[in-house]
Amino acid sequence: MSESNGSEGRRFPAPQQLAASANVGPDVYARAEADRLAFWAEAARRLTWTREWDEVLDWSNPPFAKWFVGGKLNVAYNCVDRHVEDGHGEQVAYHWEGEPGDTRTITYAQLKDDVCRAANALVELGVQAGDRVAIYMPMIPETIVAMLACARIGAVHMVVFGGFSADALASRLDDAGAVLVVTADGGYRRGAPSALKPAVDDAVGRSPGVRNVVVVRRTEQDVEWTEGRDLWWHDVVDRQPAEHEPESFDAEHPLYIMYTSGTTAKPKGILHTSGGYLTQVAYTHWATFDLKPDDDVYWTAADVGWVTGHSYIVYGPLANRATSVMYEGTPETPHRGRWFELIEKYRVSILYTAPTVIRTFMKWGEDIPAGFDLTSLRLLGSVGEPINPEAWLWYHQNIGGGRCPIVDTWWQTETGAHMITPLPGVTSGKPGSAQTPFPGISVKVVDDEGNELGDDSSGLLVLTAPWPSMLRTIWGDDDRYVDTYWSRFGKEVYFAGDGAKKDADGDIWLLGRVDDVMNVSGHRISTTEVESSLVGHPTVAEAAVVGASDPTTGQGIVAFVILRGNAEDSGDELVKALKAHVAKDIGPIAKPRQIMVVQELPKTRSGKIMRRLLRDIAENRELGDVTTLTDSSVMNLIKDKLPASS
Ligand code: ATP
Ligand code: MG
Repeated sequence: MSESNGSEGRRFPAPQQLAASANVGPDVYARAEADRLAFWAEAARRLTWTREWDEVLDWSNPPFAKWFVGGKLNVAYNCVDRHVEDGHGEQVAYHWEGEPGDTRTITYAQLKDDVCRAANALVELGVQAGDRVAIYMPMIPETIVAMLACARIGAVHMVVFGGFSADALASRLDDAGAVLVVTADGGYRRGAPSALKPAVDDAVGRSPGVRNVVVVRRTEQDVEWTEGRDLWWHDVVDRQPAEHEPESFDAEHPLYIMYTSGTTAKPKGILHTSGGYLTQVAYTHWATFDLKPDDDVYWTAADVGWVTGHSYIVYGPLANRATSVMYEGTPETPHRGRWFELIEKYRVSILYTAPTVIRTFMKWGEDIPAGFDLTSLRLLGSVGEPINPEAWLWYHQNIGGGRCPIVDTWWQTETGAHMITPLPGVTSGKPGSAQTPFPGISVKVVDDEGNELGDDSSGLLVLTAPWPSMLRTIWGDDDRYVDTYWSRFGKEVYFAGDGAKKDADGDIWLLGRVDDVMNVSGHRISTTEVESSLVGHPTVAEAAVVGASDPTTGQGIVAFVILRGNAEDSGDELVKALKAHVAKDIGPIAKPRQIMVVQELPKTRSGKIMRRLLRDIAENRELGDVTTLTDSSVMNLIKDKLPASS
C-alpha cells in the first residue's frame, strides 16, 4: 500500500543549527547498539541515587523485569530538591495559566516547599509507603504537588481524569484499594466551573477503604462535607513545615498506577516503578525534545490525567529542570486562538500535543494561528495516534512556520516513555511516520507467527527486549499481564497490539490497532491508511474508519468524516468524490462502502478516536464500555445519521 497524499518521498532534514547543538547526535545509536545495558546505566546516572545499583537488569524471570537492582533513590528529590541545591531555586518550574486567565508562577524553590508540606500532611493523615492515593483533580499546580508528595513518601499515586464519572472513579478506587483521595471543589472547563466533589462523594461512599478526602479550593463552589472524612487542602497542608527529609526507596518501589485509555478494551491498571521509569522518562524527554533547561520553555499541552501528562508534564520535565507551561482549560476557551496566545505570551519553544488537536485546528483554519507570533517555537511533538501526513504538513507549516522538526513519538501507557521517534538533530523527518526505534529499544515488525519481516512489509509491532520504563504488571493481576502482553510470541516478546509497516528505508509507520485492522475480501487494510487518505482530501479535517461485517466481502469499510471549516457538504457528490479519492490513492479495494459526514467523533478523554464504538454502531450492536468517553451524546448524534438497516 502507498503512503498516501503525495507525501511520499518528502523529507525534512534537521535544521543545521539545531543539529549542531543537539543534546544527542547520530553516534547515540551505535553506542546503544554496542552495549544496551551500559547505555541505560549511563542514562540512569543523570539521576541522583543514594545507593548505586548492583545489577542493571534482572530478566531471570520474564516477563517480570527488575531494573537497577539494589539501587535506591527518591523520585521527588530528583525532580525538585536537587535543582534547588544546585542553585536553581529561582528558576520557574511552571508557568501555570487557569482557563479564566488567572496565573501562577511556581519556582523550583516554591515547588520544593509545597511538596514538602503536602508530604508532611499525607504522613499526618497516616499515609504510608506503598499505600495508594487517588488524585482526581483539574489541571492545577496542586495536582502535581500531590503526585510528588506521594512519590516523596513512597505512596503510590493513581491519577484519575477529572472528567470521568463517579462510576469510573469508584471502580478505580476499588481496583487499586485507595486509602485517600485528593480532589478539588471543581475546575474550569469551557468557560464555566465544573464540579468534582459530588462525583468523589458518590464514589467514596462505595469505597469503604478511603479514610480521607482532601479538597483543594479552586472554584469556590458549594460542596457537601462529610465531617471527620473531608479536609480542606489549605487547612491540612498550609500549616505544615516546608521541610521534609526524603527517604530513599528501592529502584523497583511502585511509583504509580495509571489506567489505559480504553480505546480497545476495558482500561487496565498499569503499574510503574521508580528508578527505571524516571531514567527513561528523563532521558527521552532530554533527547527527543533536545531540552535545554536554561533556554527552553516547554509545553506538553495534554492532561496530567493520562500517561503523557505523567511522563512529559511532570516527571521528565522536572527531572531535567525544565521550565514548563501548564494550562487548565480547553483550546477554544474563551476563543479558538487560546493556545497560540499562550505560546506567544510565554515564548514557548517546544510544543507537544496530539493529532486530534492538530486536526481540530485544521478544521478551524490556518487564519487562527496566523494571528499570533509563534516564532519562539523551535520543535514540535505529536503523540497518541498516528499523525496523518496531511496533519503533519499542516502542523509543520502553520504552527511550526516551516522551520521546526516534528517528533512523532510512539509509545503507550505500558511503555511509560518514548519507544519509537525521530531524534530532532539526527533524523530527516518523514510526515506520518514515527520512523526510528529510540536508542536502546528493540523493535521488530513480525508476521502472525512471529517471524521478523524485512523492509517494505507490514505486520505486528513487537518489542524484543525489556526497557527501563516498562510496566511491571497489571495492578493485582499478574496473569492478565502475562496473557495480554507476553503470551502471543512467548514470555520474552512484548506484543504491543499495534500494526506497523516498515517502508523501503526501514522507517516504521504505525498502522493502528491490530483489533481495528480490516479484512476486505481477504485483503488486510489498515484503518490509519484509509483515514490518512481521507484527511488528504481538501474537504476533510478528520476521519475514522472501521470494518463492519459484510455479507459479500467479509468486512466493508465504513468511514465517518468531519469536514474542514470552509468545506461544503454537497451530500452524495462529496461522498462520491471521497470514495474516488481513496480508490485512486490506495486502490479500489480500500474504497469505503459507506461514508458519513458527522460533526463529532467518539473520543477518549485523551483525544483518541474510539473505533470499537463506531464498529458497534456500524454493526448495530450494544455499545461496549463507554466509561472513558469524553461525551456520550456524540454516539446518539452519529446513530441518528445511520440508515436504519446498515
Ligand atoms: P487501551 O489499551 O485500554 O485500549 P490505549 O491503548 O488507547 O487504551 P494508551 O496507552 O493511552 O491507551 O495509548 C497507546 C496507544 O496509542 C498505542 O498502542 C498506539 O495505538 C497509539 N499511539 C500512541 N502514540 C502514537 C503515535 N505516535 N503513532 C501512532 N500511534 C500512537
Ligand atoms: Mg493500549
